Amino acid sequence: MRLIRFSRDNGPARLGLLIDDRAVALSDLIDTPPTSTRDAIAQWDTLGPRLAAANTAGKGTPLAEVSLLCPLDGCEKMMAIGLNYADHIEEARGEGLTIPTEQVWFSKQVNALAGPFDGIELPRVSDKLDYEVELVAIIGKGGRHITAADAPQHIFGYTVGNDVSVRDWQTKTPQWVLGKSFDTHGPIGPAIVTADEVGDPHGRAIRSFVNGELRQNSNTRHLVFNVWQQIEELSKVMTLKPGDVIFTGTPGGVGLAFRPPKFLKLGDVVRCEIDGLGAIENTVVAES
Ligand code: ZN
Repeated sequence: MRLIRFSRDNGPARLGLLIDDRAVALSDLIDTPPTSTRDAIAQWDTLGPRLAAANTAGKGTPLAEVSLLCPLDGCEKMMAIGLNYADHIEEARGEGLTIPTEQVWFSKQVNALAGPFDGIELPRVSDKLDYEVELVAIIGKGGRHITAADAPQHIFGYTVGNDVSVRDWQTKTPQWVLGKSFDTHGPIGPAIVTADEVGDPHGRAIRSFVNGELRQNSNTRHLVFNVWQQIEELSKVMTLKPGDVIFTGTPGGVGLAFRPPKFLKLGDVVRCEIDGLGAIENTVVAES
């Protein structure tokens, strides 16, 4: 199933499913549905089968008539791994970063969370705005000390993300968190595709485009530390909760790696896509 949030005619946000090319509100399928994504994820053991059994015939609104919103209406935490595709490590070495033997984790603060077609703000304080297409895992069943072998059972689903980065703020101190946490710099979507529908997430083509020009073009099989290893490592430290967001790393081809660098400018359109998960498209806008 493909979980979405959407609105029609600027009306209230509704939780729903993407079925073919229609947005179907959960309230049109079952009685007393949850209204927040995190509640839906927490209740999924019972909710999923109810939704799967619902009659969807003739229901929903054509996708062209709705606005898709961020599929998550908030989360407790958003973690991201750096330097996790071999080709991206190689290009980052040119910037003085070395090959990690440990997983390099940083926090993307939750204020950065944004919708699949929302604007990405060009910071007032920087012109070094960059893109990073990433496979994003959404935690389902929480837990601590989850082994890599058990990790698949703890993932609710997957989506496409852009780990938008402000390069000068990322590297001006040893900690990356500020450069990764500007408002609007974590768009995800368009839907959260449930883990049962995705199966093994390692082996999906992953790409980004800026104004139609292909910039990143790889496959999730090239992850240095795979999604299961990432969950094992993170959960050694913190209790993972339903709805937690994990950005799993970006392949080569970010703007910083070009000579000269190709940073994002006002009006640029960044498209990030992963086969089977869909695409998000975000335009660079001025800070509001
Ligand atoms: Zn990243």
